[in-house]
Amino acid sequence: MTSDFETQLRAVSLRVTKPRLAVLTALHDHPHVDTDTVIALVRADHPTVSHQAVYDVLRALTDAGLVRRIQPAGATARYETRVRDNHHHVVCRFCGAIADVDCAVGRAPCLTASDDHGFVIDEAEVVFWGTCPDCVTTSSANAEGSR
Ligand SMILES: [Zn+2]
Ligand SMILES: [Zn+2]
Ligand SMILES: [Zn+2]
Repeated sequence: MTSDFETQLRAVSLRVTKPRLAVLTALHDHPHVDTDTVIALVRADHPTVSHQAVYDVLRALTDAGLVRRIQPAGATARYETRVRDNHHHVVCRFCGAIADVDCAVGRAPCLTASDDHGFVIDEAEVVFWGTCPDCVTTSSANAEGSR
């Protein structure tokens, strides 16, 4: 996997560095985590990598298109390495868990605006909101317990 990331970094003319490989590896293993979690994951393996270095790497990788930044309304920004496939996300209202949802159409934009106001539309941002299986189980368990 590491050599894959090296190839990806070189493809976008970014130098291969330990912090960049560490961030890509952390996001590959733990998709949809926020900045603090990325910092914790990276520093668990590489204690010498600073918080600021992780911030800088996340920005550079996002700008280069190797990392996708998603920010569901009211949530902190999350990052993932699954880019360029226009997939969507389902977000749990209770715990913030996020899962990937493949695009039914597969190409952006996957929705056609009823009125495009003359704009050339290239993307429709779709976020599915709901309750994740864990939270469904917890809330029904609580409901039974209170009866
Ligand atoms: Zn949940
Ligand atoms: Zn995703
Ligand atoms: Zn779609």
